[in-house]
Formats: sequence, C-alpha cells, structure tokens
Amino acid sequence: MDNSIRIPLDLPDVRVLDVSKTDQGAWLIRVESTLNGTQCHQCGRQITHCHGVESAIRLRHLPLFETPVFIEFCPKRYRCPFCEGMPTTTQQLSWHELRSPNTKPYEQWLLRMLINSTVADVARKLTISEETVAGVLKRWVPSQVNWDEFDQIEVVGIDEMALKRGHRDYITLVSVPLMPSGVEIIAILADRKKQTVVNFFSSIPSRLKGSIQRVCTDMYQGFVAAAEEQLPAAKIVVDRFHVTQAYRGCADTVRKHEVKRLKQELSTAEYQQIKGAMWPFRKASDDLNDDERALLERLFTYSPKLEKAYTLREELTEIFERDYTKVGAKCAIRAWCKRVRKSGLDEFESFLGTVDTWLDKITNYFLEGWSSGFVEGFNNRVKVLKRRCYGIFDVDRIFQRLTLDINGYERFSYT
Ligand SMILES: [Zn+2]
Repeated sequence: MDNSIRIPLDLPDVRVLDVSKTDQGAWLIRVESTLNGTQCHQCGRQITHCHGVESAIRLRHLPLFETPVFIEFCPKRYRCPFCEGMPTTTQQLSWHELRSPNTKPYEQWLLRMLINSTVADVARKLTISEETVAGVLKRWVPSQVNWDEFDQIEVVGIDEMALKRGHRDYITLVSVPLMPSGVEIIAILADRKKQTVVNFFSSIPSRLKGSIQRVCTDMYQGFVAAAEEQLPAAKIVVDRFHVTQAYRGCADTVRKHEVKRLKQELSTAEYQQIKGAMWPFRKASDDLNDDERALLERLFTYSPKLEKAYTLREELTEIFERDYTKVGAKCAIRAWCKRVRKSGLDEFESFLGTVDTWLDKITNYFLEGWSSGFVEGFNNRVKVLKRRCYGIFDVDRIFQRLTLDINGYERFSYT
C-alpha cells in the first residue's frame, strides 16, 4: 500500500535533483537552477558565459510535517565579457538572499512566529539558535523609520518608559496614531532628554514636519519644550491617560491614609465589615454590583473623607467623558478644583498644582477632531507596546520588534 504523497516544492526557477534524509533525520532536497545567466555586478548587463558552479550551499527551508527541510544547490557563476578583467558574478535566485543561511519563505515564516513573541522563544520552538533568529530580524525589519512611507503626520505621541520596572533609565517612544485604530512607531530614542527629542524632531523631513498638527505628551517639560521649539505650529495635548493617573493617584493616597487610620481606630469586628472595600473603591460607580456598592457605603460611613475623594475622582472622570468645548472644559475643571479646595483633602494638592501649570494643554484634549475613544485606543495600544519592550536594552532592536508586532502580519504574510 502506497501512503506517500507528491507535493510541489513551489520554489521558482529550480529543478529537483533528488530528495534524501540527512544523518540527523532532516529532509535534504537537492535542486539546480533552471535559469541561464545573470546580471554583471559591475556593468549591470545580462551575461551568459558560464564560469562553472560554486560549492554547494545548504539552506534551511520550511519544515515538512515537523521534519526540518534543507535545500541544497550549487550557485552558478557567470563571467562578464564586457568588463575589464572579465569579473564573475554569482547567480541569485529570487527565493534566496545573498549570504542568508535560509530560504526567503523560511525567514518570512520565522518572522510571523516572532510577532508578539520573543527571540528566545522562537529559537526554542524552531530549535535554532537565537543568533539565527536575530539575523533574520536584522535582514528583514529596518531599525529606523522610512519617511517615504508617510504622506503626512497629523499627530505625534511622545511617551517615556523605563526599560525595567523601577529602573531609572528611560527611553522615549515616538509614535503616530493611524485612523481608525492603528499606530506606527517612528522612533525609539535612547533617553528622554530634551535635546535628544529636539534632534529627532529636526530629522523629520520638512514636508512631514509641517503636517504635524498635534503632539500628545506626558506632562514632562523636556518633551513639551522640544515640541514647542521644533514644531511651533503644533498644538500640545497632555495625554488624558497621564492626567487620569495623576488624580487617581491622589484618591489612592487618601485611601491609604484612611485605611491606616481605620485600622487603628476601629475594633476588629468593625474593621472586618469593610474588609475588601478597596477593590470597589477603585471602580467607577456604574461598574459596581450591589454587594460592592453596599460595601463601599459601609466604608464611607466610617470615612466621609474617602467618600469625598471618591466623588471628586469620579466627577473629574465625568468631565473628561463629556463633549465639552475647550473653553467649557476649562470652566468645568476650574469649578472642580474649587470643590477640591473646599473639601480640605490635602492629598489632591499636588494635582491642583498640576492643573495650574498644565490646564491649557490638558484641555487641548477637548479640541475638535478627536473622539475620546480614538485617543483612548491610541493610549492603550502604546501601553501594550511599552510592555513589549521590557528586557530589551537596544533601541534599534526595540524599534524592530515593535515594527514587527505592528506590521508583521501584513508584511510577512504567506502568499
Ligand atoms: Zn560587466
């Protein structure tokens, strides 16, 4: 009974000579080129004077039924009768890149494996070395932006991130949100100094620089100063995400102080009643279930201060959710600040200072043309990308990895 199959190799311009198994149990497919001639590497003319073949090269190809596959062939050489010294040129086949130990289909497959994964993981899964994986990444994915791919840039996002949790070394991630839900990384900068960002902005081709209308950034003076200097026509928008973090942080500080106080002042039985109330405290009131609401209310009877903090926090979130004009939002936030001062919650003092300094740029968020969903989606995507950078310390490598995660399926799809 014959249970073997015949399948096409699907590599152009070759003829299969034979198929065998190596000592390691891999398939070895020997092929030869059916093309005659090549382009002289010096004069570019088509040349057909054969100058023999080189010694055999063995390339890794896509596995067959989980068995490794190698393609082996002897590259043909041609001599140029037109150029002085009659130099020779090696024939290139369309499915192989010069000096690569793999076929192109194999490398594209490997890159798809690497999307949202790690070099170490892919090396392990494919039982190849990390160097091999890194080599493929280097051959296919650029480590810097290609400006030719952009017609215009409307919005630029600047984010800082620590490469390790708690680390003090920051890098800067510069991204461009794409409608409706995409994002493109345009630079990874080695630190977050103003001058570094200035240098990057000044490297943007002027036709694109002039098209930048908004710069979204954290409340970080270095970034803002760089943007103001290099992109004077652009509006600077403080990311809502960072504002939210700031005032939620204040409410959390109140929570910590009050929990400490309640622990000391309440009896064990009383304290037991409000145990676990910290989770509902972090939630928006619309997201609470009945149990959580009851728990939170018990907590508030013991701590009116916490109720104030919770209410103020939710009120400000509400302002950001509403369809204010910029002027309207300024008024609403100023009124909110007054309520904070009246509340006597010192923990919000630092945030009031932030509002004083940044109100104009914070409320640029309410300028027309953006839905909050779009901005939030953009912030979330950047957040996910940031998480992907942990443990990679080379900015070129980070750029490559993020570019691959974002565009990999499109660029290296199976065709
Ligand atoms: Zn020539």
